[in-house]
Amino acid sequence: MSNDKLDDLISQTEKFVQNFERFYHDRLLIDNGIELKKASDPKSEELNQVGKKVKTIPLKTEKSEKETGGVAEMDIFGNETVKREEWEFAESLDQLNSLIHDCKKCELWKTRTNFVFGVGNPNADIVVIGEAPGADEDAQGEPFVGRAGQLLNKILDATGFAREEVFICNILKSRPPGNRNPLPIEVEACRPYLEKQLKLVNPKLILLLGRVAAESLLKTKEPLAKLRGKIHNYKGWKVMVTFHPAALLRNPNWKRPTWDDMLQLKALYEEMTGKTIESKGMK
Ligand code: SF4
Repeated sequence: MSNDKLDDLISQTEKFVQNFERFYHDRLLIDNGIELKKASDPKSEELNQVGKKVKTIPLKTEKSEKETGGVAEMDIFGNETVKREEWEFAESLDQLNSLIHDCKKCELWKTRTNFVFGVGNPNADIVVIGEAPGADEDAQGEPFVGRAGQLLNKILDATGFAREEVFICNILKSRPPGNRNPLPIEVEACRPYLEKQLKLVNPKLILLLGRVAAESLLKTKEPLAKLRGKIHNYKGWKVMVTFHPAALLRNPNWKRPTWDDMLQLKALYEEMTGKTIESKGMK
């Protein structure tokens, strides 16, 4: 057999073994004494635990990065199957943030000052979701930092939850110009990021603030009055809906019903966790 053919055969065999390893994660030992294992240095040679010289080669297990930043999953024969994006493999909120903060999937990247990922406890029991960043949030890169944000902090505090204990984010991560409502195309472009955030935090409860957030996440046209006071379900997570704090600034009469909603949220949380939350009450 010519050297070229032999090289080709070795290359094909290595490719097969790499993909084989993806499906059978145990260490592989090959008859000729060369042991394959995962390694950071593709060409390194080192001594194994019994002093045997081993050749280490990189084993691509899950994915192979493409120039586009996308990731192609491969079957056992090395054929590309579903193409997934790199951020879909993020294992923490910080990692997700670093992979998506330059997002240009909808037109809003052109007018934003800052991408607004979200803030709070990565292991929160409660995720609070608004509709989109406003001017203050866009300027600071953090959700709910303006007057509405201060009111949200007071509402959470009065109920017995500190801002730092929950995770706060929005349906959209970039500000719509002039604070207009999000367009359906923008919501759908951004929804996968929110879903990934929810998967990573895996809260016990989701609190949606305002009609737009409720409409966008629950895909409903029901008015807020009909959505409040009920427990909804979004992909297995329990969801409650109340007014957006910005609406309370415009109409203080909605503070009382908001407080009723928060007491209901607290009761549900206590029932689900067996914990007792000390409320301070709304002033
Ligand atoms: S709103 Fe979402 S999808 Fe649109 S650019 Fe911002 S991060 Fe990307």
